[in-house]
Amino acid sequence: MTTPMFSLEVFPPKRNAPVGTIYDTLDGLEDLKPDFISVTYGHGTAADRTATARIAHTIRSEYGIPTVAHLTALYSDHEVIDRALEMFDEAGVEAVLALRGDELPGARVGVFPHASDLVAYIREKRPELKIFGACYPEGHYESKSLDEDIANLKTKVDAGASHLISQLFYDNDDFYRFLDKARAAGIDVPIEAGIMPVRGAKSVRRMAERNASRIPARLAALLDKWADNPEALRAAGINYASEQITDLVAHGVDGIHLYTMNHPAGTRRIWHNVGPLFTR
Ligand code: FAD
Repeated sequence: MTTPMFSLEVFPPKRNAPVGTIYDTLDGLEDLKPDFISVTYGHGTAADRTATARIAHTIRSEYGIPTVAHLTALYSDHEVIDRALEMFDEAGVEAVLALRGDELPGARVGVFPHASDLVAYIREKRPELKIFGACYPEGHYESKSLDEDIANLKTKVDAGASHLISQLFYDNDDFYRFLDKARAAGIDVPIEAGIMPVRGAKSVRRMAERNASRIPARLAALLDKWADNPEALRAAGINYASEQITDLVAHGVDGIHLYTMNHPAGTRRIWHNVGPLFTR
């Protein structure tokens, strides 16, 4: 049986955060030896691309870990994307996670209305670069149905996305259903399962609402039981994520992508539980 991939996601700290913040995060993640660490991206300002490129460069050059740079395009033009790609070249990124980005009320959409448009553009500009894409086990919140979303996902893969990372989900059955449908639709690239450990009841509910993801009864019970005890809820969240990962690996998933939220301590506690599942 092949060992699944294990990857992590971090985000650039706020501009006014102390300069050591990202080092504290990366120091805490370094010895987990992930297959790659991906770095999120904002809506496309110059500051967004500099921050993502700078952190990707640090991960690559100072920690020796392969890195994937996220890139959103809904409000960008060709020039902005060209500049971002040049910066990612300099940072030595392993791949670009090509994203549309969320819609901002009132903002004017540019030349990349869908992620597949960005994927096709990068494919043309950088034929050798690996391109990743996002996918949604419960369907993207704008899609009428999971089937419609998967048909659009197939377009993204056909345009050149050779690796997918999923949105967070809390019920593995949703992921298995999605996987069956995606494979039946002819999507045969690796699909990593995105896992977001529970840290607080409010943030889970907010995130679930934003992404239209379901909170299964088993998780809702934990959120209710320890609503006033953040430490107990975090411990329960570590166990919940560890159990999700164990079950996913037992089902032979291609990989696990952990949304660290720049909290190495929680990530390490999960790794302590599941690390041996990823032994090569
Ligand atoms: P798309 O693939 O374009 O899909 C968006 C919607 O459009 C879907 O409903 C889809 O079905 C539909 N669609 C796609 N193609 C077509 C078509 N040709 N015709 C009609 N409809 C179509 N956001 C950030 O701002 N920064 C980040 O760093 C970031 N990282 C992320 C990482 C992961 C792993 C994931 C899952 C999401 C991330 N996001 C990030 C959020 C993402 O930007 C939003 O979910 C966004 O709303 C959709 O982006 P997408 O690339 O999936 O878009």
